[in-house]
Amino acid sequence: MASSAPIPFNEKDRLARVTEMCVMAQESDAELDALVSMVSQRFSMPICLISIVSARQQWFKAKVGVDSDSTSRDVSFCAHTILGDAPLEITDATLDSRFTANPLVTGTPGIRYYCGAPLITEDGFAIGSLCLIDTVPRPAMSQQDLAALVGFAALAMKMLTGIRLRNFLDQPTGLWNRVRLEYDVANHLAQKGDFVLLAVDIMPVKTLNDIVKALGYNYAHDLTLRVKSLIVGELGSGIQLYKISPTRFGIILPGTVDIRRVCGELVQALLPPVECHGIPVSLDAGIGVLPVSSNGSHDLEWLRWVVNAAEDARHSARRWSYYDPEVDATQRRAFLLLSSLSQALASPDQFRLAFQPRIDLASGECRSAEALLRWRHPELGDISPAEFIPLAEKTALITDISLWVMASVVRYLKQCPVRDLVVSMNVTARDLESCAFIDRLLEELATHGVDPTRIELEFTESVLIEHPEVVDQQLQRARRVGISVAIDDFGTGYSNWAYLSRIPAAVVKLDKTLIQKIFASEKDALLVRTLIDLAGELGYRVAAEGIETVEVLEQVKAWGCAEAQGFYLARPMAVSDFERWHRAQVP
Ligand code: C2E
Ligand code: MG
Ligand code: MG
Repeated sequence: MASSAPIPFNEKDRLARVTEMCVMAQESDAELDALVSMVSQRFSMPICLISIVSARQQWFKAKVGVDSDSTSRDVSFCAHTILGDAPLEITDATLDSRFTANPLVTGTPGIRYYCGAPLITEDGFAIGSLCLIDTVPRPAMSQQDLAALVGFAALAMKMLTGIRLRNFLDQPTGLWNRVRLEYDVANHLAQKGDFVLLAVDIMPVKTLNDIVKALGYNYAHDLTLRVKSLIVGELGSGIQLYKISPTRFGIILPGTVDIRRVCGELVQALLPPVECHGIPVSLDAGIGVLPVSSNGSHDLEWLRWVVNAAEDARHSARRWSYYDPEVDATQRRAFLLLSSLSQALASPDQFRLAFQPRIDLASGECRSAEALLRWRHPELGDISPAEFIPLAEKTALITDISLWVMASVVRYLKQCPVRDLVVSMNVTARDLESCAFIDRLLEELATHGVDPTRIELEFTESVLIEHPEVVDQQLQRARRVGISVAIDDFGTGYSNWAYLSRIPAAVVKLDKTLIQKIFASEKDALLVRTLIDLAGELGYRVAAEGIETVEVLEQVKAWGCAEAQGFYLARPMAVSDFERWHRAQVP
């Protein structure tokens, strides 16, 4: 008959205590290890264990004399010890009907003698035992020894409590940490209470890193303590503050609290520069607010939600904001797209190129085409590059995407049936912030024997450029070997005339949003006209993007545009369609 362990009457609550007490259960602890080896020596027993009895197993938080880390609960002696609050002693297991057939008795380690003292929490639950085991029968312990074992068990329990507290503590600030916040939130939810969770993000991580770099860890530490006391001062006593990441504090407030007032006061407290060692530091705080109701299903998402809300709040005038599910949905999608991109790059059929013709207005010929990336996600379907490129640009993935596009363009040009066709591809500032991209481009061109003049790089100036001088150098390198450079989306965003003189471009592409407004707004018409004139005078070929009607086409032509691209002329097309289209153009 299979053995089975007895179940204490208070098992459900007992198991809850096991979970609470044994945070990070699998980690061994040097102090507990030292305790069991000391106890084993004191009693001259080969085996001593701190055994925690969980739902199906007993596992050894500390051990001496056995190799395994756990056994099934069914064979556990300690599962019997936890039934009472006094030690359980078995002088010869082979003579005890509960254990005669136990595999730990009949097999390894061959238990004959067992004595375990229960490990009892402050509120009276036995979570396991401190036990001594021998492989030979032994006489019963003296009362004095039993008392000593009970004392050691109490000590082990104290140490377990200490470890638990340590796991809950943010050492530098002395506050409870994220693990403890999670634990407390779970408790609030279990007690069916409504409450409000706040995340106070005191500054962007990059700012903190800069402070560490400039002023050292000690300074950053002291600054954090200053901010902690500011927040504590505002909250008053009785409200627990948590430190949940290097730049974030967490707060649990009762559901009845006046959020507007509390957040308003916190924001005011964190607004003036914080003086630390005589240096005033301006924080850049944001407060996220998440009302939590025990009726909702939150899991651990609440932490991510409230932290994101804090981040958003930093960019709002009020500097505190409620968690917004819409923002969250956007972020989820962004995350999903970004996490699918690597796979898309490796997959043979998720990415492809479309080609959109650009027309030379003087001759009416198509001499170049823009390669535009297309992505068909296996579940989400077609994703616009206007959505995924800006996301990828914030990560290192953009480099791989650009390399993919570049290699595809060069391979296409190698066997392109359209004579002398120039293919322009979009590059981002990030691609040009090191020499790697142009190195690879030159390599590919040489390998495939493609003339560099068949390639054009469309570049958009962006605020993201950290090293404009490197970007300029890379564009110049491209120009020197005959690769053409175009400034894309000119007239909007970050583009300005200052960099027209700096960037070695031959072509300026006027942004489609401007072109599309020339008949709707006189101001835009004047702007486009001026841009065409000035760029022309500076020696650039001007191309107009987003031509959707014949009227707009005629107008930009009359204003002196050299080239045009747009749905009216031709849409972006798959390679074969583009080639067919091109053949149809030639008389
Ligand atoms: P862009 O480089 O300015 O490309 C032109 C965009 O305008 C393309 O959108 C094109 O389909 C669209 N377009 C062309 N003619 C018309 C028109 O007459 N009316 C309207 N409404 N739109 C027109 P698409 O393909 O969705 O690409 C959007 C942006 O994504 C591109 O703007 C470019 O910035 C980026 N992108 C596309 N492919 C790549 C790529 O391979 N690498 C990088 N880094 N960016 C890319
Ligand atoms: Mg472009
Ligand atoms: Mg453009």
